[in-house]
Amino acid sequence: MKLLLKDVKLSAFAGEEELLALCERKLRAPCRYFRILKKSLDARDKGNIMWVYTVECSEKTVPHPPKIYEKVKKTPRVFVVGAGPAGLFCALRLLDRGIKPVLLERGKSVEERAEDVRRFRETGVLDPSSNVQFGEGGAGTFSDGKLNTQTGSPFHADVLETFVRFGAPPEIEYLNKPHIGSDRLRGIVAAMREHILEMGGEVRFGALLTDIERRGGKLLLTVNGVREEADDAVLAIGHSARDTFEMLRARGFQMEQKEFAAGLRVEHLQAEIGRAQYGPRYAELPAADYKLVSHAGERAAFTFCMCPGGTVVPAAREEGGVVVNGMSDYARDGKNANSAVVVQVKKEDFGSGDPLAGVAFQREIERRAYAAAGGGYRAPVQLLGDFLEGRESCAFGEVGPTYPIGTAFAPAESYLPPVLVRTLRAAIPDMGRRLRGFDRPDAVLTGVESRTSSPVRVLRGEDGQAAGAEGVYPCGEGCGYAGGISSAAADGLRTAELLARKYL
Ligand SMILES: Cc1cc2nc3c(=O)[nH]c(=O)nc-3n(C[C@H](O)[C@H](O)[C@H](O)COP(=O)(O)OP(=O)(O)OC[C@H]3O[C@@H](n4cnc5c(N)ncnc54)[C@H](O)[C@@H]3O)c2cc1C
Repeated sequence: MKLLLKDVKLSAFAGEEELLALCERKLRAPCRYFRILKKSLDARDKGNIMWVYTVECSEKTVPHPPKIYEKVKKTPRVFVVGAGPAGLFCALRLLDRGIKPVLLERGKSVEERAEDVRRFRETGVLDPSSNVQFGEGGAGTFSDGKLNTQTGSPFHADVLETFVRFGAPPEIEYLNKPHIGSDRLRGIVAAMREHILEMGGEVRFGALLTDIERRGGKLLLTVNGVREEADDAVLAIGHSARDTFEMLRARGFQMEQKEFAAGLRVEHLQAEIGRAQYGPRYAELPAADYKLVSHAGERAAFTFCMCPGGTVVPAAREEGGVVVNGMSDYARDGKNANSAVVVQVKKEDFGSGDPLAGVAFQREIERRAYAAAGGGYRAPVQLLGDFLEGRESCAFGEVGPTYPIGTAFAPAESYLPPVLVRTLRAAIPDMGRRLRGFDRPDAVLTGVESRTSSPVRVLRGEDGQAAGAEGVYPCGEGCGYAGGISSAAADGLRTAELLARKYL
């Protein structure tokens, strides 16, 4: 007999052996198969915080046969451009289908990037060619690895399963807010790359796609100045590939503007967030997070990419611009909590109908933020209380900034557009009413959070191919079809399936 037990509540301070004992009581037999399908923390009543489980169990073992994929009849030459989650997952699924892709990545390998980070931490000096400052946070490797998504993609379970196959903690398959951590993600990404190589795929770092055109029935890709022939190409280029967007526009790809969000990173003490969310026993529970939305201002504002026990990190990709993001290690044990607190940016803010006008908007605020902090890739910071009062800051309180390159006090209104400033000034106190301490005056605001998702969409049809460009598959966040790791990876799987279908 296999039992499905839903809504099983156990004290948040109880061990999982109690769950097993409960299953055995229900089965009236020793439990040989036991699988948690969902696990979430219910902290609404701070005096009675509970884990809520959905669990499957049986007195017999239940085998899980590996998935077998039908292989293609003809093997095309496929290039996947971009080794972020969209490109990596696309390449993995193409291999499952018998297609050996060539994965092109303009940036460095995860090991080289880790070395850059190590050197930077030791010396404080940035190598100008390094991805630490100018690389995509992307390539999955230096992002945080929070895997929750609200897209409801049928590929989501596959994404989690694949992460586990390559070394992610198994709990990500059932936690309602799965998290891998920047530290663990690097090894997982390296394992995926090794697998692609072992299965006969190719992975090229420092390989920049600069042109793509169709001639005589073949696609011609220019990679580091060399022409390559292909049957198909997947564009999994991420949201910061501004030069590649320009190239696609010049080549006549159909693109449209896409709205996104922009604002600041806010830092608090993690202990204070823990106390506000879970009460006095917060230290015995997983590091607390939050998600807040406010409609108190002219536009919607919300928190995003909350990193418990994390740090604020540089994510700029162009010279003379400052962009921040956040990440945390698996343990989430840093002193500060951070999240993006952002406001909807609308097409009307772009000031032009050009499909790449959103890029120009981002560039403008990133350059202003750079100038506001006096250059050198320092980030402009302001105390939250001073931001609300329209005052300049001159000293930190209890919360110190974690941004590693250095900070300089500068008012956020010197680089953010007025509508964003007005909205944040209304939204932050409103959020503080929902989460005690969120609006504490000495919380630190760091700018600028400008790359929450792609400002452009490369149009594609139902078959996944770019409008009017057979064999080219726009994919992932950069082309406007995902926002975050899970949805980008899911779109990579979906794209691989659509591409393989042509050859089955
Ligand atoms: C610090 C940080 C923390 C983050 N934390 C999270 C998180 O916890 N959870 C979450 O869901 N999301 C997080 N994100 C966002 C997440 O990383 C992105 O949403 C995701 O990586 C998008 O995937 P993608 O594959 O579409 O694009 P990307 O990961 O950006 O990958 C695109 C790749 O294409 C390459 N490329 C671009 N143009 C070319 C070209 N012309 N030739 C060759 N290569 C090219 C780029 O170098 C890049 O590596 C974080 C981001 C950062 C920076």
